[in-house]
Amino acid sequence: MTEYTTRVLDAVRSKNAHEPEFLQAVQEVISTIEPVLSAEKKYEENCILERITEPERTIIFRVPWTDDTGRIHINRGFRVEFNSAIGPYKGGLRFHPSVNLGILKFLGFEQVFKNSLTTLAMGGGKGGSDFDPKGKSDAEVMRFCQSFMTELQRHIGADTDVPAGDIGVGGREIGYLFGQYKRLRNEFTGVLTGKALNWGGSLIRPEATGYGCVYFAQNMLATRNDDVSGKVCTVSGSGNVAQYLVEKLNELGAKVVTMSDSNGTIYDPAGIDAEKLAWVMELKNVRRGRIKEYAAKFSGSKYMEGQRPWSIPCDCAFPCATQNEINGADAATLVKNGCKLVAEGANMPTDLDGINVYLDSKILYGPAKAANAGGVAVSGLEMAQNSQRLNWTREQVDAKLFDIMKNIHQNAYEHAREYSKDCTAEFTNYVAGANIAGFVKVADAMIDQGLV
Ligand code: NDP
Repeated sequence: MTEYTTRVLDAVRSKNAHEPEFLQAVQEVISTIEPVLSAEKKYEENCILERITEPERTIIFRVPWTDDTGRIHINRGFRVEFNSAIGPYKGGLRFHPSVNLGILKFLGFEQVFKNSLTTLAMGGGKGGSDFDPKGKSDAEVMRFCQSFMTELQRHIGADTDVPAGDIGVGGREIGYLFGQYKRLRNEFTGVLTGKALNWGGSLIRPEATGYGCVYFAQNMLATRNDDVSGKVCTVSGSGNVAQYLVEKLNELGAKVVTMSDSNGTIYDPAGIDAEKLAWVMELKNVRRGRIKEYAAKFSGSKYMEGQRPWSIPCDCAFPCATQNEINGADAATLVKNGCKLVAEGANMPTDLDGINVYLDSKILYGPAKAANAGGVAVSGLEMAQNSQRLNWTREQVDAKLFDIMKNIHQNAYEHAREYSKDCTAEFTNYVAGANIAGFVKVADAMIDQGLV
């Protein structure tokens, strides 16, 4: 670490001592962009690190709502508007009991660099609530969303801040949120992405994060003259990202042997094929059931209560559930069992020890902000279609997503090779490459726009 990065990191640590996830994300970025900071003194002279680690605006608000019995509940709502140097704030809303300011700051910070990598004009933000949609009726979820939006609406807008979904916020929640925004503001605008197709949504948006992550993995594999066909893959999660990631892996001839939820993992050595995946989608999206039901339905599979998928041998691993679901020991197990590629569908699913294991063993490692950027990229395409009042076809959007993921890979690859000393003919440090590529564009825009 240099004197500059040590000083900034120390200051960030003392100011945000109770936000471990945020500190983890900042440490990962700062430790990898040092080569560009040393080469370009303008970033230090303009205090870019000090500024980029401080959100432009943080909004915290009360969300009162009543359940079906008339009982009153109070949740906490948040929107972290992190950085608008290259476009309106853009990033999802997460509804989960674990949500707090530190988690949303980590997600907002990551989003700044991810959005920059997409090449689209989007700043970074993130929001949500400690509300738990699990076990709530549709009417309860609707009342919560309406109350949440009643406050949020004054802070967002199609050219200001455009939220989307994340954990616990899918099509149902986006619908209720959009309805309340429209009612309060009397305007039908592209203020949210992830909308349904018949009222402003984009084709391929639900699929985009999962599909994009597989496209990124394909690009990494191509650097070693390989591809996913025939590979045994482990996947965590069974939500939006995991479902479409499994769909794309199946289409490309891979065999997916695990999915999970917060209670446990199912392992199906025969593979979760298209028919079984359709059953999982119905289970999770319609019946809102638990993944353990899979083992009762499909013989030959088993349910591992309280476990994650990382002890199952695989060629490729795709964490798609949540942050810090892979630690150093899990990463070591993956590598020991022959895993050659990890591509992150979830945000920051691997802790810093785990990342070091991947880098030391020189496997192909696609960090979240590059590998899962397909979701926000198609959100950007949804915004573009809304502005033009046009809808592109499925093929058009998928082709754009494919190209964007290819460009993100190329951009991370080239920046890694330009700045990161540990790259070899075979090995590319995509963590450094993605962080540097994402950083430079935002930092230069911040300098251009003066001290704001
Ligand atoms: P969903 O809510 O649709 O699904 C989340 C899945 O992860 C569920 O299977 C859930 O299980 C599981 N999960 C959630 N929390 C935990 C936990 N603490 N431990 C173990 N499993 C958990 O969310 P998404 O699929 O949209 O998001 C998954 C990840 O992908 C997140 O990290 C998100 O930030 C990231 N992401 C999402 C994007 C998107 O477009 N949706 C874009 C880019 C990143 P359960 O049902 O038990 O809660």
